[in-house]
Amino acid sequence: MTRPILPGATLGVLGGGQLGRMFAVAARRLGYRVAVWSDARDAPALAAADLPIRAPYDDAAALAAFGAAIDACTVEFENLPGELLRGIEGHAPLRPSAAAIAATQHRGREKRALAALGAPLAPWRPLAAAGSVTAAAEALAGAVAEVGRPAVLKTAGFGYDGKGQVAIPARGPLPQAALALLAEQACVLEAFVDLARELSVVVARAPDGRERAFPVAENRHARHVLDVTVMPARVDAEIAERAEALARRVVAGLEIVGLACVELFLTRGGELWVNEVAPRPHNSGHVTIEACRVDQFEQQVRAVCGLPLGDASVVRPGAMANLLGDLWAAGEPDWASALAVDGVRLHLYGKAQARPGRKMGHLSAVAEDADAAVALVLRARAALTPGGGAERDVASAAPVPGPRA
Ligand code: AMP
Repeated sequence: MTRPILPGATLGVLGGGQLGRMFAVAARRLGYRVAVWSDARDAPALAAADLPIRAPYDDAAALAAFGAAIDACTVEFENLPGELLRGIEGHAPLRPSAAAIAATQHRGREKRALAALGAPLAPWRPLAAAGSVTAAAEALAGAVAEVGRPAVLKTAGFGYDGKGQVAIPARGPLPQAALALLAEQACVLEAFVDLARELSVVVARAPDGRERAFPVAENRHARHVLDVTVMPARVDAEIAERAEALARRVVAGLEIVGLACVELFLTRGGELWVNEVAPRPHNSGHVTIEACRVDQFEQQVRAVCGLPLGDASVVRPGAMANLLGDLWAAGEPDWASALAVDGVRLHLYGKAQARPGRKMGHLSAVAEDADAAVALVLRARAALTPGGGAERDVASAAPVPGPRA
């Protein structure tokens, strides 16, 4: 074991979102000091830091101050400038490394790296920025002919939660929105996957290569944004084993140290394809706080510091439901009613402004089985707003036909 970084040391985190906030809370509980660097004003992690630094990511004075304060550093989102990441490495170990983060920042680079590891992927083609709509039409038509329709065009960089994506339908002319996107930006075209399930696996990997995976999570999305997670996933043990093995292989192959999440598509044919890799904690891992012996944030601390990794197994099946800013449309949600649902826990991220689609918090619950845990979080979420949207929520979380344990 490399020499661990022990409690009392200062851990840096780049990025100010809820993942950084929950990392900071876990690190401080373990007795670390935490420095958070964010360029955003309404950044929830800053409020949870011993040393909050709000500055643009190219601010040399901020780098000097942050760098001098930290004993090790990690990230809570991956779309950070390479120069900043390399600058941090001049001061303290960055886990994951700048090189590992760079591989996940760009969909084309990431897919090439994954393909080199032998990880199965949906058919895809890289596309350079075309420069004009006419050139985009020609390039996209060529790629569509190879990948097939329907398909999804995604910007190569800086995309998340379905942002920067345009669906290419099975028939008809190529959408203007796709041509406009490709005219301006490098993209990848992906075949649209006939999904049985979306799964994810959070894996922690220590500096000496020791690793531990959390149980496979099952994820339902609504409008491209994660809506509900269930852990452990309701799939055959054989599928769960394959998913975990694939995720471990990917995280080790990309030489990620720290914590990462591998998002997977389970096709109706029973195949597992890698969707993408997040080199940090993941929304689908929030349920580990209640469901597992150690949670993803403490595990990130342990991995970054080179400490023994915690037991990531499930104590009780759990579910998590996201709370998006849309819930604030008719005023402050009714927290007391949601908390009246026994066994449900509320996590709010302290964001000042509730915008539609913005992740403001989540609800979690554990129960005797996964279905009961899902029912609890959906009941609590429905109680937040008059009318509740309960039917829609239940529908979006209903199991889809496909392999089941
Ligand atoms: P991404 O930002 O690439 O993770 O996409 C967000 C969500 O869009 C995924 O979790 C899926 O629900 C959906 N999605 C993205 N790519 C595909 C695809 N090739 N086939 C089917 N669904 C997709």
